[in-house]
Amino acid sequence: MQADGDGATLVVHSATKYLTGNGTVTGGIVLDSGKFDWSASDKFPSLSQPEPAYHGLVFHPTLGSMAFTFHSIAIGLRDLGMTMNPQAAHYTLMGIETLGLRMERHVKNAQKVAEWLEADPRVEAVTYAGLKSSPYHKRAKKIVPKGAGALFTVALKSGYDGCVRMIDRAKLFSHVANLGDTRSLIIHPASTTHRQLTEEQQVRAGAAPNLVRISIGIEDVEDIIADLDQAMG
Ligand SMILES: *Cc1c(COP(=O)(O)O)cnc(C)c1O
Repeated sequence: MQADGDGATLVVHSATKYLTGNGTVTGGIVLDSGKFDWSASDKFPSLSQPEPAYHGLVFHPTLGSMAFTFHSIAIGLRDLGMTMNPQAAHYTLMGIETLGLRMERHVKNAQKVAEWLEADPRVEAVTYAGLKSSPYHKRAKKIVPKGAGALFTVALKSGYDGCVRMIDRAKLFSHVANLGDTRSLIIHPASTTHRQLTEEQQVRAGAAPNLVRISIGIEDVEDIIADLDQAMG
């Protein structure tokens, strides 16, 4: 959410990906700059109007720049109960100690793998924003100049069956539904996470039948490429 041209004012971030590195924790982070005027319109009555479930407190005028944060705790956390357990918080804090190092390797590996895949004749397209062919390349250079993450999809000329075969053959890659792990992960959305959709819906969701989603880990990049090479047959 953006109040002006001055960057994001409210960021909702998944702590499930990358922070621990091991895919052992689910968690989230909400960062509020306190700059947004919740009372400027009638769109945010829970912050600009009296809250009946909190003794009629009007969060925004009363708490100012901390309104959203206090509402998240007093109402959101109280009613929904999404409190991170202490061990999950401990794992997350320990993981963050090596996050910078791991991300450098993640994005370096992802860039190399995406370039290798894009040049392979068995591949139709690669969606990685670090590639010049991506419509998001320019934006990625500006927003994430150190690298465009380590998650992307690859479209195979061999179609749905080729994707299923690739997943079956992959050895270094783990076949799981999560992402942002130190290990390289692979999944074929059209036969798993998105199988309940029609083909048209799959295409619109970026999960076309001939797409494989890969999350590049921090292994030796030559091993990652060798595994994809043999898996594509
Ligand atoms: C991403 C993911 C979720 C959802 O976590 P969010 O923090 O809501 O994105 C849940 N389980 C697994 C295994 C995941 O990878």
